[in-house]
Amino acid sequence: MSDSTPDRRRRWRKYHELQSALHQQWQERGYRYPSPATPPFPDDLRGLACGARTKAGTPCKLTAIYLNGRCKWHGGCSIGPTTEVGKEQSRVNGRKCGRPKKKPDQEPDS
Ligand SMILES: [Zn+2]
Repeated sequence: MSDSTPDRRRRWRKYHELQSALHQQWQERGYRYPSPATPPFPDDLRGLACGARTKAGTPCKLTAIYLNGRCKWHGGCSIGPTTEVGKEQSRVNGRKCGRPKKKPDQEPDS
């Protein structure tokens, strides 16, 4: 199989999206065993390089890449919190005294 690098990167992302979906399902089941059977990692995706264009104009050669298929330098900026819970937490984090202290009679978050 001789896929081009963009195709390999697409399959890399697809593989990790599948992994995330399986893990999400497992989390919803309360991490009960057995853990989900995940497909084996495709051998031809091993050693996939970032490939983003560097300042010098050459392709990035880093092989330590994230789930999005890019390295730590070329993964893109954070888009901030996306869920409502995360956005609310972000608002609370910016307060002068931080997040409100829990009252002793409150149940701990589950
Ligand atoms: Zn890179």
